[in-house]
Amino acid sequence: MALRTAPQYLESLRDGRTVYYRGERVADVTAHPELGIGARHCAIDYALADDPHHRELVRVTEGGRTINRFYKIPRNAEDLLRRRELIAGTTYAGRAIIQLIREIGTDFLFAHAIISHAMQEKLKAPYHERLQAYHRHVAENDLAMAVAQTDVKGDRSRGPAEQEHPDYYLRIVDRQKDGIVIRGCKAHTTSSIYANEIVALPTRTLGDPDADYAVAVAIPANTPGLRFIVSPLSGGGRSAFHHPISSRHKIFDTLTVFDDVFVPWERVLLCGEAPYAGALALGFVEFHRFTAISYKLPLMDLMIGAALLMAEANGIEQAGHVREKLSRLISYRETVRSLTVAAAHECKLKGPGVAVPDTTITNIAKQYFAENYHAMVQRVQDIAGGLLVTGPAEEDLTSPETKADVEKYLGGRRGFGAHNRLKLFNLIRDLMASDFGGYHELLAIHAEGSLEAQKITILRGFDAGACRAFAAECANLEL
Ligand SMILES: Cc1cc2nc3c(=O)[nH]c(=O)nc-3n(C[C@H](O)[C@H](O)[C@H](O)COP(=O)(O)OP(=O)(O)OC[C@H]3O[C@@H](n4cnc5c(N)ncnc54)[C@H](O)[C@@H]3O)c2cc1C
Repeated sequence: MALRTAPQYLESLRDGRTVYYRGERVADVTAHPELGIGARHCAIDYALADDPHHRELVRVTEGGRTINRFYKIPRNAEDLLRRRELIAGTTYAGRAIIQLIREIGTDFLFAHAIISHAMQEKLKAPYHERLQAYHRHVAENDLAMAVAQTDVKGDRSRGPAEQEHPDYYLRIVDRQKDGIVIRGCKAHTTSSIYANEIVALPTRTLGDPDADYAVAVAIPANTPGLRFIVSPLSGGGRSAFHHPISSRHKIFDTLTVFDDVFVPWERVLLCGEAPYAGALALGFVEFHRFTAISYKLPLMDLMIGAALLMAEANGIEQAGHVREKLSRLISYRETVRSLTVAAAHECKLKGPGVAVPDTTITNIAKQYFAENYHAMVQRVQDIAGGLLVTGPAEEDLTSPETKADVEKYLGGRRGFGAHNRLKLFNLIRDLMASDFGGYHELLAIHAEGSLEAQKITILRGFDAGACRAFAAECANLEL
């Protein structure tokens, strides 16, 4: 099958999937007044395959077939750098908003290529063959994928089997001749309603008492018993004037309910092997955080560009404190970018020859981005000024009663009349001082793992023992 077009992709979402928005069943996400925005945003990913500027980057030949590069297993640093370019490229096309209909799914495929390979060698069970067959299926049919990893988790201080409620983590409730039945709920599943396939995998390390929670599956989005309850809280607005980004580009997240869902064996990718659950959960985030730091670049570019334009519009771009703020924004961008490139260059081959970005560098970049995001937003807000949140409405620019006042008083430096200046305020407010902006602040901190998760990974991955030995030697310790 050839790569799908954007209309073919949108048509594939009309498959009877069970979606609820604000308490009501949605028959067709592509036709819904709010959810349709996200569907058309995700379709950008498909449109790029035929776009003359992106075609060469998107299309790649594997085994004599043309597939989307997202599905290509990285074998070396060059592959990881091209993948990074593709992730950034699709995000630039979405005006700094990622689509997330292939990135996370393929992060899972690469991680499980390594884990399932080890499982097959040790357990003599056909997990790797199953994964490879599934990988071929999604690549050859050019399918969109979402990943539901984060369980609702109940009491965070207790493991799955110790919870008051047995379904706070996704679990196997029945093993049958043809497959398994699973029950539970995953939270925050991004772009699930725009995916053809939903992958579920464990969110943490599991012990033997948790064996029923060690489950990974990949199922079509319209599988009976699978329900999506869409969050309306990602913000955004309808007016293209007030919301230049979010009126056309946004993503939605869901509570993803697995209500006794039957999964045939060929789609069961982990089934009770508790020791491999943690390896898969951690292996997945090794790729997923590399995706994270790859898609931040367009947002950071927009922060720098908007701050610069706003400074020009306000006539302050030469002011010392503004130059200092701009230099911090540039350093922020360049630190994340160069760490991302370094993580690709220092990749390691694992399992059946899969290139894994350097884990420590990747986590440092993700942590650095997340910990500093709010401070960078503050700098852009400071340069912009208070009209960011007190400016007039779109209607005031057209009403004969108010138009003249707005145009007369809200101009800035020559060349930045009231219209242009308000457009700049709206761009910054939409991204950094609105519900949609708040969503991005949360996304920075929690998506792809919370801050503590990165710190734990950095501590685990770095060889601090060598530093300890060096310090002991310098101190002439007698240990
Ligand atoms: C916008 C967005 C998109 C996302 N997209 C996806 C997606 O597509 N798929 C997916 O699977 N997930 C997704 N996530 C989930 C994301 O990975 C989680 O939000 C993140 O791992 C934190 O989990 P949590 O939200 O349950 O918060 P919690 O785990 O409850 O964290 C809250 C606080 O509790 C702390 N904490 C938690 N457990 C413990 C403990 N045992 N001991 C001490 N402290 C603890 C944390 O460090 C943190 O400070 C998304 C999240 C966001 C915000």
